[in-house]
Amino acid sequence: MDRNKSYTGIDLFRFVASVMVIAIHTSPLLSYNTTADFIFTKIFCRIAVPFFLMTTGYFLISRYNYNNDKLINFIKKTSVLYAISILIYIPLNIYNDYFNIENFLPNLIKDIIFDGTVYHLWYLPASIIGAVIAWFTVKKLELNKSLVITSVLYIIGLFGDSYYGVSECIPFVKVFYNNIFDVMDYTRNGLFFTPVFIVLGGIIADKQKHTPLKQNILYFGISFILMFTEAMLLHIYDLQKHDSMYIMIVPCMYYFFSILTHWRGKRMPLLRTSALTIYIVHPMIIVIIRMLAKLSGTQKYLVENSIIHFSLVCISSIVFAFVFTIFTDKLKTKFPRKIISKKERAWIEIDLDNLKHNVNVLKQAMPSDCELMAVVKDEAYGHDGYEVSTYLNKIGVKAFAVATVDEGIKLRKYGIIGEILILGYTDITRIKHIRKYNLIQTVIDYEYTEKMAEQNVKINVHIKIDTGMHRLGFSHDDIESIKNVFAIQNLNVCGIYTHLCVSDSLDDNDVNFTKLQVHNFYTVMKTLDDDGIRLPKFHVQSSYGLLNYPELDCDYVRVGIALYGVLSSASDKTKLKLDLRPVLSLKSKIILIRRVQNGESVGYGRSFITDKDSIIAILPIGYADGLPRNLTHYGGYALIKGQYAKIVGRICMDQLAVDITGIDDVHIGTTAVLIGFDVNNELSVSEIAEISNTISNEILSRMGARLPVIIKD
Ligand SMILES: *Cc1c(COP(=O)(O)O)cnc(C)c1O
Repeated sequence: MDRNKSYTGIDLFRFVASVMVIAIHTSPLLSYNTTADFIFTKIFCRIAVPFFLMTTGYFLISRYNYNNDKLINFIKKTSVLYAISILIYIPLNIYNDYFNIENFLPNLIKDIIFDGTVYHLWYLPASIIGAVIAWFTVKKLELNKSLVITSVLYIIGLFGDSYYGVSECIPFVKVFYNNIFDVMDYTRNGLFFTPVFIVLGGIIADKQKHTPLKQNILYFGISFILMFTEAMLLHIYDLQKHDSMYIMIVPCMYYFFSILTHWRGKRMPLLRTSALTIYIVHPMIIVIIRMLAKLSGTQKYLVENSIIHFSLVCISSIVFAFVFTIFTDKLKTKFPRKIISKKERAWIEIDLDNLKHNVNVLKQAMPSDCELMAVVKDEAYGHDGYEVSTYLNKIGVKAFAVATVDEGIKLRKYGIIGEILILGYTDITRIKHIRKYNLIQTVIDYEYTEKMAEQNVKINVHIKIDTGMHRLGFSHDDIESIKNVFAIQNLNVCGIYTHLCVSDSLDDNDVNFTKLQVHNFYTVMKTLDDDGIRLPKFHVQSSYGLLNYPELDCDYVRVGIALYGVLSSASDKTKLKLDLRPVLSLKSKIILIRRVQNGESVGYGRSFITDKDSIIAILPIGYADGLPRNLTHYGGYALIKGQYAKIVGRICMDQLAVDITGIDDVHIGTTAVLIGFDVNNELSVSEIAEISNTISNEILSRMGARLPVIIKD
């Protein structure tokens, strides 16, 4: 689905839902038929408030949230709105003699937290409390367990609401609810009612695959009919104390909201922002219309006829909300908020659509029963570990590889589900962390394995086999040691792998060596199998292994550099030529333009002397941001207005200079591309790597320590 498209369905229904809330408060059909009114306002329109809550959850709750800023922002905004609403409604409170009730202070506190100082305002504190409960249960327990807990809260609420008639029949349950009702008027509040819907919104937002529209419509239809039956039965048997909570409204809302998320396209900002205003002001409008009707003696027409009353309230509230929204929008454009741009100096831009494209292309190149293990070590090769790994997880990648235990822990904190393999060495003292965060450790030789086993902590491991690289791993001919690992109680061997060291080369010698490595590995597997050992999952290739030996049998391919859409070196030839697209761009902006006369020097060491009168632009990006310093020496460029501008003088730690003589329309603030596309030209990281005598992997991994990462939209 296109990330850039707006949520038309949700925007539109916000508006519809706000009208439904007016209906709940004005009972439009009451003058004609009480049953019809019950069906319309107490069943049909009941989906409005859960819908608002799910919208909150949809944009706020995710298993991949790991800092609390978003929640705090939501609480701040809603609290301000609540405070303003309380103030606006004080005249109504005075009119209702609210301030003269007994035990004023305890009642006020109870109302502020649970019931609202005016009846409809309960929603605001309830959405704050619900959001906090949803946020922390999701963070601590993941979405599904959080759904269970919030459902239990909902069920407790249910028996104080629509099912209260049942609770009344059981003495100790009745006592329980009477105690509850000392503290709150209804159970339809932030503690019992709202959390489950907010969590459901988060579940839909995080869903990896969208269920087909038809299926959602069918399930919505079924759950709605069941909810209807449930509500009618409760109504007929007169069990309801209050009528907002039904069992079936939970599945009903889930499918209904899923239907709405299918509908994406045009943005509807007016409808979206007006809905909240309508919700807040309509009770005020009801009071005003009643007052006016009383004063003018037209109650008979304007109030007593429920349809006319409802329509009047709707039209007035909508007109007010539209005017108010348009007016505040105007104010906003007059006094725009100063947004701090991440593009102030130099930045990395990540194209997640390209990442998804690469995942698909790579999966197609792999044998169908083989799984992609995304190698996301070193902040996903400098691409931002959080953004890359959570996105991959969302689009269905369930196996990850990292270099260190701390990188693995970070992924878990980001909310990643699935397997996380640590490819490198982990100090024995960290074994508890491996277990706590459910990581998989690579065992690198027998001595290390024994030390791990002695810790008496049960963990999952992959055995690494050295088939010729002579870095980490059990020697492939030391079958006895390898077999022994399988017998160790504390270590659950769930994988075995090797690493190829010249799979990037298609030279005959190198191909032969790789084939020997592969042969050595499969021989180990066969010997284990012959000895009756149940074979764990196995893997051999990294990116080049796949690109040059796609036919190899395996359970995983550990893809790093290819996932990011680049080759290690621009000149590499590979057997498969996949349409991989670079995910990362590196950009900066011009902060100064100066004229330098013929024969003058630029930069440290005076290594560059102009051979003509030149225009030089300064970019605030240097080798501390990851650009290799020796790039100038071999001839590096920046793309400015789509044209190649030569980097001149030595690249400094934080600055560099480019020659922009002859390029038109360049100003202070013009963007310069150091890696990536600009108009029709490209500066690829693999070319830069090649001219600076290294590989893309090194350049990428050095980037990002000080650069902000922006997601391309
Ligand atoms: C880094 C690494 C990979 C990924 O290599 P790429 O060439 O980037 O695909 C695979 N396996 C191991 C053991 C690694 O250390």
